[in-house]
Amino acid sequence: MKGQSPGRLALAHVSNLHAYTPGLQPAGPGWVKLNTNECPYPPSPRVAEAVIREVGGDGDALRLYPDPTSSALRDALARLHGVDATHVCAGNGSDDILNLLVRCFCGPAAAAAFTLPGYSLYPVLVGIQDSAVTPIPFDRSMRLPVDRISASRARVFFLTSPNAPTGVGFPTSDIARILESFDGILVVDEAYAPFASENALGLLAGHPNLVIVRTLSKAYALAGIRVGYALAAPEVIGLLDRVRDSYNVSRLSQAAAIAALGDPGYYEAIVDKIKYTRDYYAGSWEKDRGWFTYPSEANFICTEPRNGRGESGPAVARSAYDFLFSRKVLVRHFPSDALTASFLRISVGSDDEMLVLEETLDAWLKEPQNA
Ligand SMILES: *Cc1c(COP(=O)(O)O)cnc(C)c1O
Repeated sequence: MKGQSPGRLALAHVSNLHAYTPGLQPAGPGWVKLNTNECPYPPSPRVAEAVIREVGGDGDALRLYPDPTSSALRDALARLHGVDATHVCAGNGSDDILNLLVRCFCGPAAAAAFTLPGYSLYPVLVGIQDSAVTPIPFDRSMRLPVDRISASRARVFFLTSPNAPTGVGFPTSDIARILESFDGILVVDEAYAPFASENALGLLAGHPNLVIVRTLSKAYALAGIRVGYALAAPEVIGLLDRVRDSYNVSRLSQAAAIAALGDPGYYEAIVDKIKYTRDYYAGSWEKDRGWFTYPSEANFICTEPRNGRGESGPAVARSAYDFLFSRKVLVRHFPSDALTASFLRISVGSDDEMLVLEETLDAWLKEPQNA
């Protein structure tokens, strides 16, 4: 190396990339963590049993590579959704699936599009491909801009449904209307669909350009195990398989995911509990506190805090965020989008966590500068 900085050898578009900013994962105890939409309850007890069984007494099984096609896991997912396993691709989290999709469908001459606000990983992944992007902004009503999406002429469109970070669900009939007139690949990211009243699964059969992306990170309490999947026509799954790492889902992750899918009763109960807690607090913030709150179809609530003088706005949201943070209650504030800047996104926690949150919000309201 003749004094050349390695950074100068990087592709220009990579040098200019902004990396994805994940929610904080604070070290140390005592945090009420309501910032990354993880499940507040543990996974099915069958998961730990399956992982321990897979490791075995001495870990010998770990010498061997995992099944490169995740076939038992894909069979379990196919059964869950009533499709053939040729319609399923398993990934190292749904982020892996989204990455496979941009590798197949985005590039300098193949534009992507998505609605804003949305999942902030999409622009990062699309940027890695040096692909042009057309962001389509929502207005405060959060109604799906069906005609503008159809007219976007993107090669691939990423739609988070229910939306993140507002939690608003979209009618399946709107998604069907997009599919009728949109020529590209429509990716419906259904990370939160298990908490919603509708999903796009019924549209899969008639629409070869629809890709549904799901994850076990939220409703299955397995964010740490990293399993997500795509449901799509076999032709699309075949493309994803061409760009996929052969061993993209580890042995332990495949075992854990299969065990979780084998305990549907356990998950029905915790999803019901999370929905109940969500509806209780969303209703109470709207009615009792008088805070505008989007109706949520997800496992988080997007609410616009008001201080004691009835003021809302980006500075009020920031003040609530900072106060909560100082009391070790972690939520999320997205100041860069005008539509979310005056809101907080709060993951639905356990009853104890929600009580600490409520007490801390009350304490914030009593601060002299807010009263
Ligand atoms: C959490 C989330 C993901 C990521 O899920 P993983 O499977 O953990 O990678 C994808 N999309 C949206 C909209 C999410 O909120």
